[in-house]
Amino acid sequence: MQIKRIKLSGFKSFVEPAELRIEPGLTGVVGPNGCGKSNVLEAIRWVMGESSPKSMRGSGMEDVIFAGTASRPARDFAEVTLLVDGAAQHGGEVEVTRRIERGAGSAYRLNGKDVRAKDVGLLFADAATGAHSPALVSQNRIGAIIAAKPAERRQMLEEAAGIAGLHVRRKDAEQK
Ligand code: ATP
Ligand code: MG
Repeated sequence: MQIKRIKLSGFKSFVEPAELRIEPGLTGVVGPNGCGKSNVLEAIRWVMGESSPKSMRGSGMEDVIFAGTASRPARDFAEVTLLVDGAAQHGGEVEVTRRIERGAGSAYRLNGKDVRAKDVGLLFADAATGAHSPALVSQNRIGAIIAAKPAERRQMLEEAAGIAGLHVRRKDAEQK
C-alpha cells in the first residue's frame, strides 16, 4: 500500500486547503521549526483512525482544528484525505477522508461514501500500517525506541514488518 497524496484543510497549521504529493523516492521533509512537518505526520495518523488526542499533542480531539491566529479566525472543521494505492480489498486507488466539526465529532468516508471508523481501521490493518504503525515515529518517540530493551525493540520491528499478527494467531492456535 502506498500513500500517493494528502489533502488537508483546516487541520492544525494547514488552514487553507493544501495538497501534498508523495512521489517515489521521497526521503525527507525539511523546513524551519514550527512550519508543520510533524503536523503532516499527525494528519496521516489521524485519518487512519488515531483516537488519542494526547498523541496528537492536544487535550481534546477538536484541538486538531485550526485554532486561529491574531490575523485569522479559527475554523469550525478540519478535514484530511489520503489517496492510497494498492489497498487489499479495493484493488486500485482509494480515497480515505476523516472530518471533524466542532461539537459534532469525527466522520469517515471511503471514496466519498460514509463508513465507520472500524472500516477505515480494517483497510489499513493488513498493510502493516494504520494509526499505531511503528513505521510512523513521532518526534517524542525516538528516545523511547533508542532506550527500549532488545525484546521490546524486536517487537517494534516485527510490527513494522507486519508479522506481529502471526504471533497472535500462533498463540491462539496453541490454546486450542
Ligand atoms: P519542529 O522542526 O520544531 O519539529 P515542525 O515543522 O514539526 O517543527 P509542527 O509541530 O508540525 O512543526 O507545527 C507546529 C505549528 O503548528 C505551531 O506553529 C503551532 O502553533 C501550529 N498548530 C498546531 N496546532 C494548531 C491548531 N489547532 N491551530 C493553529 N495552529 C496550530
Ligand atoms: Mg516536528
